[in-house]
Amino acid sequence: MTNWNALYDRLRTKVPSLELRRDEPMSRHTSFQVGGPVPVMALPKDEEEVQQTLAVAVLEFGVRPFFMGRGTDLLVSDQGADLLVLKAYSGLGRLELEEGRTIVAGSGVSMARLAGFALEHGLTGLEFAQGIPGSVGGGVYMNAGAYGGEMSQVVTRVSAVGLPLEEPVQEQCVDPQFSYRHSIFQEQDSFILRAYFTLDPGDPAEIEAKMEDLAARRRAKQPLEHPSAGSTFKRPAGHFAAALIDGCGLKGLRVGGAQVSEKHAGFLINTGGATCKDIVELMEQVRERVFKETGVALEPEVRYLGKEGEGWNF
Ligand SMILES: Cc1cc2nc3c(=O)[nH]c(=O)nc-3n(C[C@H](O)[C@H](O)[C@H](O)COP(=O)(O)OP(=O)(O)OC[C@H]3O[C@@H](n4cnc5c(N)ncnc54)[C@H](O)[C@@H]3O)c2cc1C
Repeated sequence: MTNWNALYDRLRTKVPSLELRRDEPMSRHTSFQVGGPVPVMALPKDEEEVQQTLAVAVLEFGVRPFFMGRGTDLLVSDQGADLLVLKAYSGLGRLELEEGRTIVAGSGVSMARLAGFALEHGLTGLEFAQGIPGSVGGGVYMNAGAYGGEMSQVVTRVSAVGLPLEEPVQEQCVDPQFSYRHSIFQEQDSFILRAYFTLDPGDPAEIEAKMEDLAARRRAKQPLEHPSAGSTFKRPAGHFAAALIDGCGLKGLRVGGAQVSEKHAGFLINTGGATCKDIVELMEQVRERVFKETGVALEPEVRYLGKEGEGWNF
């Protein structure tokens, strides 16, 4: 059993500049706006604070932190989770141009800011990222993508700190081994520090026009006015999850405050006051109905965090 008070106090002393929260509700940090507390959350502002936090947590307390970005792909139990959460999004905001066409971005940089930076420098290739609401760290981890673009097409290098930790803490250059909504980071315990994007020169007016077009397409098709985690299920081979769900007549299906969006059947939304339990029950109902009617087993795209034995039953 982890002594969370002792870990919190030790971090306070050993890394005095680190922003720390005790019993922090995850509903404040997830785009679904649900989730109970985690005992300790650390919000490092730079890579040095990440390394110092890991050294205390892993080497002194044997605690494996959970790494998060902006919480736009996370579903957290109403009971919370017994975890030290290391959140990149509030800090780790390095954003620089190297050798004319390589952008170095800290894992806490938002995808929108990254895409905007590429536009400012007349570089093309990141237009797809502009409307993805997560961070660079989460984007690399998920190989996030949209409208034919994805991180695998533009990321040339990723620097990370892996667990088990060495002392002194070592940074590694990791080949992300991307595939559809997948990277090697889903099989390893590593904190992504930063990513390198090598892009081609482009016409700023064309880049901007493409971003505006993609943003308009999102606004027209997606329920951006409601909290959600985007597409709740992965795209099954040979199908589209939204089309299968719509085809089974499930748009508008509700459990408590959770609903299958009327606008986009692939999005489960929080219409106000939804609990994690509502969302999970709705996911189970959707999955069962789609499987019964089409034979396709939907797999969640969102990541679940909770106490042992909780979550979905599939
Ligand atoms: C309205 C809406 C629209 C969306 N549209 C799209 C879309 O078009 N395309 C798409 O791909 N996704 C989309 N998403 C989903 C989501 O934005 C992406 O998956 C995004 O990449 C998640 O980034 P994040 O920073 O929020 O990650 P989080 O949700 O915080 O974390 C996701 C995973 O990444 C890991 N992780 C995050 N940061 C780090 C780090 N620094 N080191 C190691 N691991 C890390 C976490 O452990 C977790 O397992 C959408 C979501 C919403 C709410």
